[in-house]
Amino acid sequence: MAAKQLKCRECGTEYALEARYVCSKCFGPLEVGYDHPKITDVGEVRRRIQGGPQNIWRYHDFLPLEGPQPRTRTGLPAGCTPLIRADRLAERLGLGEVWVKNDAHNPTHSFKDRVVSVAATRARELGFDTLACASTGNLANSVAAHGAALGMDSYVLIPADLEEQKQLATAIYGTNLVKVRGNYDDVNRLCTELSGDRENWAFVNINMRPYYSEGSKTVAFEIAEQLGWELPDRCVVPIASGSLYTKIAKGFQEFIDVGLIDGEVPTMNGAQATGCSPVATAFRDGKDFCRPVKPSTIAKSLAIGNPADGPYALDLARATGGAIDMVSDDEIRAGIRLLAETTGIFTETAGGVTTAVLAKLAESGEIGSDERVVVVITGEGLKTLDAVRDSFTAHEVDPTIDSFEAAFAESAESARI
Ligand SMILES: *Cc1c(COP(=O)(O)O)cnc(C)c1O
Ligand SMILES: [Zn+2]
Repeated sequence: MAAKQLKCRECGTEYALEARYVCSKCFGPLEVGYDHPKITDVGEVRRRIQGGPQNIWRYHDFLPLEGPQPRTRTGLPAGCTPLIRADRLAERLGLGEVWVKNDAHNPTHSFKDRVVSVAATRARELGFDTLACASTGNLANSVAAHGAALGMDSYVLIPADLEEQKQLATAIYGTNLVKVRGNYDDVNRLCTELSGDRENWAFVNINMRPYYSEGSKTVAFEIAEQLGWELPDRCVVPIASGSLYTKIAKGFQEFIDVGLIDGEVPTMNGAQATGCSPVATAFRDGKDFCRPVKPSTIAKSLAIGNPADGPYALDLARATGGAIDMVSDDEIRAGIRLLAETTGIFTETAGGVTTAVLAKLAESGEIGSDERVVVVITGEGLKTLDAVRDSFTAHEVDPTIDSFEAAFAESAESARI
């Protein structure tokens, strides 16, 4: 495999590719390092990728896994989600070219299937028998489903107040669902303690975190491939821990470095909810670290008050000429509606955050009319129905023409749904 070692992001100390996530010298986070052979025949490599399986394993050479590329590595292959040109959304916002990367089209309806596929596959390779995670919701769905598909036990820890839809869509897979009385940061602290003495458990976003986060690069690989091996000018990406946001940039950079695409990493815009905006606040205040917050927002999948990759997200926004913005819960609801009404895509609250930030950037004139923008939609609207409940009307009629016509007369009463 091209992955060669785990490497400390702070001091550069190298470690073997095992289940380890912090540097024992400086406590910095570890990341997978690669030694890619220089590509001499770009066309041949592009064709090989295009001829690969219709899932993230087509990018096997860029992922930290052993063995040859199987058609399907786990029973639940992720990725190859649609990239849709959204002309009506662009027009509404006065923009030139907008694309929606719709990652709701994954086995458990969020981008988390990408990261869990990689972490779970690596966990198997390293001999673990149990998957576990601390989750804000979507990760819970994905870990439980991958456990079922791979025949591994799973333990999924969530904040007790999580959306009911996400709890049901986790429990159905026969996992050990643990509702922790506390917020995500409390759950994460508990899992970090547990991971110290549960030797056969692979906590996908703790001791397996370096592998987990590599899965997010595949969003960038797909965008480049779907744009005909070209780069967008700008990406708008939601931020919880900051892993997805920073790894999308890493994905573009790796494809540029090996010569598969030309150009530079796009302008990277991060999106947070005002009710949990440690990274956006630090960006606004010119800080290079994040002050932890107590989350209070309808965007629960983004509600991480102490984001692990916060400082790297701040660096990335500044290095690419981007920004990290925040939007209120009302703006999030408006974002969900805007996307639905102009594209036919119903996203969860996190996608509302992303769309609302896109709208904000368009309004402020930040985005040029000649720019090609990709908006990353990370999850499915049916999982967060409560966020939009009571905000629409419907016509309730008797099964007669008269009643139908009366309903559409100007004075018609409407039923709230
Ligand atoms: C987890 C998640 C994110 C972002 O997570 P990061 O921790 O920043 O990688 C974005 N959207 C949805 C729907 C998620 O579930
Ligand atoms: Zn270190």
